[in-house]
Amino acid sequence: MILIGTMDWASTRLKGMFHCPNCDSTQRFRLRASRPFLTFYFIPVIPIGGLQEFVQCTNCKNAFESIVLANHMLPNDAQPQPQQATVETSFEEDLLKVLALVMVEDGHVTENEIRIARRLFENMTEQNLSRDALGAACSQVRLHRLNTTSFLSTAASRCSHEQKLLLVQAMFGVAGADGELSPGRMKSLVRSQQLLNLDQQEFETAVEATSQWLQ
Ligand SMILES: [Zn+2]
Repeated sequence: MILIGTMDWASTRLKGMFHCPNCDSTQRFRLRASRPFLTFYFIPVIPIGGLQEFVQCTNCKNAFESIVLANHMLPNDAQPQPQQATVETSFEEDLLKVLALVMVEDGHVTENEIRIARRLFENMTEQNLSRDALGAACSQVRLHRLNTTSFLSTAASRCSHEQKLLLVQAMFGVAGADGELSPGRMKSLVRSQQLLNLDQQEFETAVEATSQWLQ
């Protein structure tokens, strides 16, 4: 059985203290890297693609995009700060990522989710989203071991208010693609209000208006 798996490298280049958005407290982090491999019966055989870096909190073990250090590394830390200016993420990338995260969250992707995710993306950005691009985004978030919580806590600092509301609507739209919301998804969706610093009223208004993007 050939599968895509990952092998981890622990990098000793960068360790330090940061504000972990998940623990909401100061924690030790390690910068780690993983490389996707084609595996044969769980034995990595062929490396595909380059090393993908991620930051891991040593307390909760959650993985974050390395940009989390630009926003959450403590200023008194002796380590050089990554320069924020070098990391530019477009809203389209964030939108695609959040759609992919919600899609893979429950372990499988359905045709309805694919259809709804593409429609949400196309209506919100007026740009095409191919099935392949969406599929690539799904495998990428898996390889990066991102989850919705860790992604939103880094996206919150770079998104405008309008963009945050769109991300909420994208999440609810795709999460509801198969009809019912699972309790696990509901929990992470509710958490998004706090992670994106939205008040209850505007959050609810945005959720209710989600259907405008599904036409
Ligand atoms: Zn943590």
